[in-house]
Amino acid sequence: MAYDARDTIAAIATAAGGGARGVVRLSGPGVLECLAKCFVPDDPVAWVGIGQPCRLAGVLHTGGDGESARLTVPCHLFLWPDSRSYTRESAAEIHAIGSPPVLAAALDELCRHGARPAEPGEFTLRAFLAGRVDLTQAEAVLGVVDARTRDDLDGALDQLAGGLSRPLHRIRDKLLGVLAELEAGLDFADEPHEFVGRAELLERIDEASRVVAETLDQLDGRDRGDDLSRVVLTGEPNVGKSSLFNALVERFGPRGEVRSLVSPTPGATRDFVATRLDLCGVGCELVDSAGANADAADSVERAAQRAAADQRLRADLRLMCVEAGNAATINAAAERAGSGDLVVATKCDLAPVGHSAAIPCSSVSGAGLDDVAEAIRLRIAERAGEGGVAASTAARCAGSLRDAQRALIAAAVLTRGGGDELLAAEIRTALHAIGEVVGAVCVDDVLDRVFSQFCIGK
Ligand code: GDP
Repeated sequence: MAYDARDTIAAIATAAGGGARGVVRLSGPGVLECLAKCFVPDDPVAWVGIGQPCRLAGVLHTGGDGESARLTVPCHLFLWPDSRSYTRESAAEIHAIGSPPVLAAALDELCRHGARPAEPGEFTLRAFLAGRVDLTQAEAVLGVVDARTRDDLDGALDQLAGGLSRPLHRIRDKLLGVLAELEAGLDFADEPHEFVGRAELLERIDEASRVVAETLDQLDGRDRGDDLSRVVLTGEPNVGKSSLFNALVERFGPRGEVRSLVSPTPGATRDFVATRLDLCGVGCELVDSAGANADAADSVERAAQRAAADQRLRADLRLMCVEAGNAATINAAAERAGSGDLVVATKCDLAPVGHSAAIPCSSVSGAGLDDVAEAIRLRIAERAGEGGVAASTAARCAGSLRDAQRALIAAAVLTRGGGDELLAAEIRTALHAIGEVVGAVCVDDVLDRVFSQFCIGK
């Protein structure tokens, strides 16, 4: 993405598909000039001396050259002519009927008069570059848009309100003050005067450490990016779970990895075995657990059944294994399956599969193993996308916050008898790491990663 904020951008800001109302958004220095060429307010003097944010009723004329494409679109124009907008530059929204061809014609018209189509996330990027929101708040915009549940929404709104970054900004300011004083001390090292006392230094560093630790706590558990999805094989004893486990490990697991016990005797897997799979870059932990057996006879088997039940509960994805030849069981499994389940028809070398909802595979012939792996991969990727704002922020920020924490601990130790230069270096490291989190220190690839997740118009 090019971070050029000097031109004027435009995009349809409402979701694709028709709707009662649609919004086309504009931002940049040429907004007024562009609108003056195609928007006619009902009140002809409304343009005169426009300087305040306002709302104007009027029409947008589109389709300039082609007679047949000419449209007159009644609309409301919301205008922020100065820096009091989301992007802190001239901005406008045209609210019209939500018909896709009408909105597309309006966008074309604006682009004919100097605007260019916005890249995904570019409005929020401008808000970020103008200092209107920090990076965690920009991610929160994405979280609000993508929220699926009330919890996602509450978390994103809190983050948008600065709940996550405000304390980090505060300690960043304090640490900048500490650094300035330490550096002043270094410049006047021969003078007896101490610019900042050790006790006070330690107090400020401890406070910063506390805030970083609290923020890490807040992110903990939401960082699903680092945490492997658990894929658990479930099904009756003897349906072929252990064989499937071994076949998948052989193809997608680490070399020489632990194998699960395969036996024609039902109930051979007494506990559970787990290993990591790499499915084209998407990692997961595959778990083979004891098959469900309501008549567990001895105490060891009952314990194994409890361990297996626990694994099933903790699963992010369950592979419900049923034998390909058993149509009734496949139907029942397909009906029971929820969003966290995949139905797998095992032993398809022995019998055809009569249900399209099940993925046929055979650990003996190898048929369908790649399909099973691909289905797992897709589900995990979907789930990562559902992590919401805090998840994406957590994945991006946890490493930086840990760096900050390490540097602050080292700095605290140095206040008890280390050189000021080393102390200043640790504080600089901590500041850099905290700056990465709030976006005060930014590299293009971080911006790319954050803003490329947005859709166009946000
Ligand atoms: P589990 O109890 O569900 O873990 O089942 P196992 O993996 O131990 O397999 C039970 C029996 O089915 C064993 O005798 C396996 O050799 C056999 N089996 C497993 N998968 C297949 C398969 O894909 N095709 C055939 N023909 N037999 C299989």
